[in-house]
Amino acid sequence: MLSKSQYLKYLQCPKAFWLYRKDKSKLTPPSPLQQQIFDTGTEVGEVAWGLFPGGRLIPFNITNIPGMARQTRTAITNSADTIYEASFIVDKLFVAVDILHREEDSWHLYEVKSSTGVKDTYIDDAAVQCYVLEKSGIKLTSMNIVHINNRYVLDGELDLKQLFSILDVTDEARLRVAEIPLRIDEMKSILAGPEPHRPIGPHCLSPYECDAKDYCWKTLAGVPENSVFTLTTANPERKFDLYKSGIANIADVPPEDCTMAQQLQIQGELHIEPDPIREFVRDLVYPITHLDFESFQSAVPQYQGTQAYTQIPFQYSLHIEENPGNLLHKEFLGPIGTDPRRELAEQLLADIPEEGTILTYNQKFEKSIIGKLAKAFPDLKTPLLALNERVRDLMLPFQKRWYYHPAQNGSYSIKKVLPALVPEMDEAYKNLPGVNNGGEASSTWSALPRNADPNQVEQIRSELLAYCRLDTHAMVKILDVLRQV
Ligand code: SF4
Repeated sequence: MLSKSQYLKYLQCPKAFWLYRKDKSKLTPPSPLQQQIFDTGTEVGEVAWGLFPGGRLIPFNITNIPGMARQTRTAITNSADTIYEASFIVDKLFVAVDILHREEDSWHLYEVKSSTGVKDTYIDDAAVQCYVLEKSGIKLTSMNIVHINNRYVLDGELDLKQLFSILDVTDEARLRVAEIPLRIDEMKSILAGPEPHRPIGPHCLSPYECDAKDYCWKTLAGVPENSVFTLTTANPERKFDLYKSGIANIADVPPEDCTMAQQLQIQGELHIEPDPIREFVRDLVYPITHLDFESFQSAVPQYQGTQAYTQIPFQYSLHIEENPGNLLHKEFLGPIGTDPRRELAEQLLADIPEEGTILTYNQKFEKSIIGKLAKAFPDLKTPLLALNERVRDLMLPFQKRWYYHPAQNGSYSIKKVLPALVPEMDEAYKNLPGVNNGGEASSTWSALPRNADPNQVEQIRSELLAYCRLDTHAMVKILDVLRQV
């Protein structure tokens, strides 16, 4: 049996489709972050059912897909006007429609997406559903993409009509229906043959990063670790052009037409500009507070005054250098299941010294979190915004390439800077018992309210605290290296 998602995979790359069907061992399992994105999609789909309440749900059953199609047929015969996950099979191709809704004698299809806009691949998604439904005798009057409207601000009860935007894609989708039978035949003949050959290219990254990328890029194509694809600030076209011209290693990229940052990466040598680094360090004022927030986002706004995908801070860590050699640590981790922002904002104001520099790594993020807290709590606005005035960015010396270590491999992200400058801290991250990156912290926090085991919850909370504490401790260590300059 073929499915809609296999059809979309085939459109991206026939080899990806073949591997999915014939050799899953070549595929990389979803990361916790990707899994969170899938889970968000499921959650948003279920919330969108509320746009057409009272519908009949066809429960997903992988072991009995024909049974799902039969239940759908029965629901239609019994005059159901709204069906969630309405299932159909034609030419051994299975589709499940997020929402199928009937108004008088017209059927309307709604495909729900957790994104904030409409991508071209969604039109193919609607087209293949249209093909299967109309061959099953369901004449569609409209096909629509339902997606998140991130301009909607939660104010009182959740208003689904404002949370979602609906775009009619009937005309565009119909234009793509004619090609579907041919494509289905191609899919069947590909499956009957051996693993197809397909060179790597931009299609590996779009519309989604392919889960066979490690296999095709590293194992088959031999793309090295320090490849042209890591060339800093270069767009994908330039990287693929270089690769197609026979240049695989970053060291072989001709330095002409390269920016200074790219040239440093190509040369692969330590580069230090002492004067601006000394000035940067000299401008920091004690007590120096190293600040790092952890945050999560949800597609459906949970708290008043927030929008879809607003970053909600739930945790921070502070390492405070009161004076040279005197380090203090403070931290906050919010209560589970309630809005952590007020408590976090109040404790942040109490914990951060009244003067001195506040150091962050990538100030845009921390300043935007503080700015949003100030907006949410007008009575705290003045002291919160005053914090932002004192923020300096520890990323700056690396972003400006005043300090460049070859192990950064072109990047100035803390994940690359830290192991390059302070290798022993990298070991500390590897030894963390649980959470060891920001994405994991976010997905772990989001899942906590569903965990009913108090021992596990306590364990996870301590893992979150350990992770965030290490982040600000890492900043202290990076600043120490700059001081040595
Ligand atoms: S990595 Fe690229 S070439 Fe390989 S299966 Fe995926 S899309 Fe196709």
